[in-house]
Amino acid sequence: MVKFLDLQKLNASFQPELSAAVCRVVDSGWYLNGTAVAQFEAEFAAFCQQKYCIGVANGLDALTLVLTAKKAMAGWDDADEVIVPAMTFVATAQAVVRAGLRPVFVDVDGNALLSANMLEEVLSARTRAVLPVHLYGQRADMEGIWRFAAQHQLFVLEDAAQAHGIAGPGQSDALAFSFYPGKNLGALGDGGAVVTGDAGLAERVRMMANYGARQKYLHEYPGSNSRLDEVQAAILSVKLRRLQSDNAKRIRIARRYEEAISSMGHPDLLATLPSRLSAYHIFPVLTPCRERLQSHLTAEGIETLIHYPLPLHRQPCLKPFAEGKAFPMAERMAASELSLPISPVMTDAEVEATIRALEHFVLA
Ligand SMILES: *Cc1c(COP(=O)(O)O)cnc(C)c1O
Repeated sequence: MVKFLDLQKLNASFQPELSAAVCRVVDSGWYLNGTAVAQFEAEFAAFCQQKYCIGVANGLDALTLVLTAKKAMAGWDDADEVIVPAMTFVATAQAVVRAGLRPVFVDVDGNALLSANMLEEVLSARTRAVLPVHLYGQRADMEGIWRFAAQHQLFVLEDAAQAHGIAGPGQSDALAFSFYPGKNLGALGDGGAVVTGDAGLAERVRMMANYGARQKYLHEYPGSNSRLDEVQAAILSVKLRRLQSDNAKRIRIARRYEEAISSMGHPDLLATLPSRLSAYHIFPVLTPCRERLQSHLTAEGIETLIHYPLPLHRQPCLKPFAEGKAFPMAERMAASELSLPISPVMTDAEVEATIRALEHFVLA
C-alpha cells in the first residue's frame, strides 16, 4: 500500500528531536507567548528573507488578519474588492469574506495559477488587493503580478500555505503560511504565520491576533485570539531545519513522475502540468477519466486525493460572489485533477510502484 502521505513515518523521521522539543516546552512551564514562539518567528522570518514573522493559530487566520489589519489601516470600505483565483482551497476566499471584503474571482491558467494578464479584466474602481496562491507549491507569476499591482496601487498578499521554501522574498506586502500537519512545513496540530517587511502592518497584525492589544490590558482595537503555541513552535523549529532538503526530495520525485508520464506518451489520457518552479506540495496529474484512474490506482494499492473537486465559484458559500461568470479552466482543473503520492519519506520503490500502476492504466 502506498499512502498518499505517511504522516506517522514523516514525523518519526524527526525523532528523537521532536519529542525532546516537546518535553522542553512541557518542562518549561510556559505554554503561550514564550521563547519557543519568538525563536521560531525569528528563524522563519530569516528563512523567508523578510523582516517580520508573526505566529498565528492557522493559515486562515494568517490571511484574515492581514486583510483585516490592512483594511483598517488604509481605510478600505466594506465590500471593497480582492482578486482571488477561482481554483484554490476555500480558505483563500473565506478569509476575504471574513475581513468584510468582496472576493472577485478570476480564471486560472494552464498551471491552475492566477495569471497577471487576466487581472486587467476584473479590475474595478473598488479593487484594493490581489491574492495570488502558489497552488500545489508552484510559484505564481509574481513578477507580472507585482508589475500590475504597482501600476494600479494594489496591495499584494501571497497565499503561501502550499509553498514553504518557494514563496518570497520579493515585493509583496505580506505572505500568509499554514502549518497544517500535511503542509511542506507541518506542525502536530494547527499553526500559521504572517510574514512581511512592513513594520506597521506587522505590529497591527500582532495586535489584532492578541485582542487588539499592544500591551497587557490595554486594548486599542477589536481583535481576536489567534496564537501559535509554544509546543507547535518548538516542533516547527526542528522541522524547519530540514525543509530545504525535504523540498529537494519532493522535486526529485516530481521529476521522476514527469519523465515517466511523458514517456508513456498519452497526453489525452494522462497529462502533467507544465513544469515550473515548485515546492511540490502536491503532484497533480490531469485526466479526462479521473474516476476510472483513481479506482484503478486504489485497486493497485496506490492512495490518491483530489485537489479540489469544486472550484470556488461552485462552493455554496461563495456562489453569490460569482453570479453570471464562467471560469472554464478552473472547471477543467476541478474535473480532471488527481494528486499522486509525494512526500520526503516516500521510498524509490513506492515511486516506482506508483509509476507501474500508471503504466498499467495507460496500456489497458
Ligand atoms: C491549507 C491552506 C490554507 C489554510 O490553512 P489552515 O491552516 O488549514 O487554516 C489556506 N490556503 C491554502 C491554499 C491552503 O492550502
